[in-house]
Amino acid sequence: MAGRQKNRLKCQTINKQNKLPCKAKGILMKNGNIRCRIHGGWSSGAKTLKGKIKSLKNLHQFKNFNDEEIRTYITNKQRHRNDVNEWNAFDADLSETWIAKS
Ligand SMILES: [Zn+2]
Repeated sequence: MAGRQKNRLKCQTINKQNKLPCKAKGILMKNGNIRCRIHGGWSSGAKTLKGKIKSLKNLHQFKNFNDEEIRTYITNKQRHRNDVNEWNAFDADLSETWIAKS
């Protein structure tokens, strides 16, 4: 549709320069925020461990950390996610056996 849509999702960020809300249309992200293309809506973040280390190295709180320390931080942070992945793997095994039966 051409023109400005009434029922579009608006970006929820505040402009850095004039402190006004962003007026661009955005998409709903996984964490529940609505972001436009300029404010990182279509980006899902770093995927690989190398990229995650590189991105965390730019943060102030990881200034004096080396690669190994950041790697341990990432793995400790994502422990519960790994548990979830194991559960998913278990479910996948179950579904495979179900397919084999039928
Ligand atoms: Zn925006």
